[in-house]
Amino acid sequence: MNAAILTSPQPVAQRPLKITDVADPELKPGHVLLRVRACGVCRTDLHIVEGELPPKQPGMIPGHQIVGEVVDGPTKETPLGARVGVSWLGGTDGSCPYCKRGEENLCDSPTFTGYSVPGGYAEYALARADFVFPLPEALDDLHATPLLCAGIIGFRSLRVAGVKPGERVGLFGFGASAHLAIAVLRAWKCSVYVSTRGKSHRELAAALGATWVGTETEKPPVELDRAITFAPSGDVVIAALASLRKGGVVAINAIHLDRIPQFDYDRLLWGERQLRSVANMTRADARDFLALAAQIGLKPKVTVFSLDRANDALLAVKNDAVDGAAVIVP
Ligand SMILES: [Zn+2]
Ligand SMILES: [Zn+2]
Repeated sequence: MNAAILTSPQPVAQRPLKITDVADPELKPGHVLLRVRACGVCRTDLHIVEGELPPKQPGMIPGHQIVGEVVDGPTKETPLGARVGVSWLGGTDGSCPYCKRGEENLCDSPTFTGYSVPGGYAEYALARADFVFPLPEALDDLHATPLLCAGIIGFRSLRVAGVKPGERVGLFGFGASAHLAIAVLRAWKCSVYVSTRGKSHRELAAALGATWVGTETEKPPVELDRAITFAPSGDVVIAALASLRKGGVVAINAIHLDRIPQFDYDRLLWGERQLRSVANMTRADARDFLALAAQIGLKPKVTVFSLDRANDALLAVKNDAVDGAAVIVP
């Protein structure tokens, strides 16, 4: 099959992914073999390809927002031909203290799709049968891909931030995850304050129903109940913290941050403000979010790249040159 292989991590401008012919994945017990119909590009793929997340295995195939069709290893829930989604959490051990507490997103021995096992920048992919999600008809291939990580993790961020219907919620950064989260927030009748660099991102936020839109240096005009940050930047986290009311929560939706700058505890964190990270996702987050996405008719904006152009897709994500989400179609 044709696949995009990462031999050694490098800045994406140096085109570290080699598009080449490799052996098809072999079916293993407890797994389904999928023909990849589309695979979304996530900022985490960029961190993997550029080496901010250290390589787990040489020759990795990135990609963890896979829409695939079951072509081997069918189960009762996922018969041959079934259309399923695969996300970042490719498996857990089911036996560690976190799994036993129902916090599988924190599992001590997780498997990550496109990082510890090969992902979806390829024509075929193998996935654990108990970690794929049958996709509702209402979600087509291309538009379902960004839901599978950006969407689910954006949704989890809203849960971690404790968002309640009707609240004032800030979104700091407006990439793939935020532009899905705003649809959920609007469905929950929240007012949404978006702070982001990039004129086209601000225009998209306004078009999607933001109450207020500003640049990354502008402060929302009201105190926020909750804020979610999406940029891999500690400065943005501090800006979000500075916008909160007492008792408010910042949820950091970033697997990697450049640093956290020193900040004034008395002014920014005192008053029971909270700073929380968002780690991975649970299967329950995925199922709840996909059902909600189908119900509210969530249709993300997507830009399609062929598999040959996987490096270009990553570069576009890095440069914030994609409105909405980039999707690779093998
Ligand atoms: Zn576990
Ligand atoms: Zn992701």
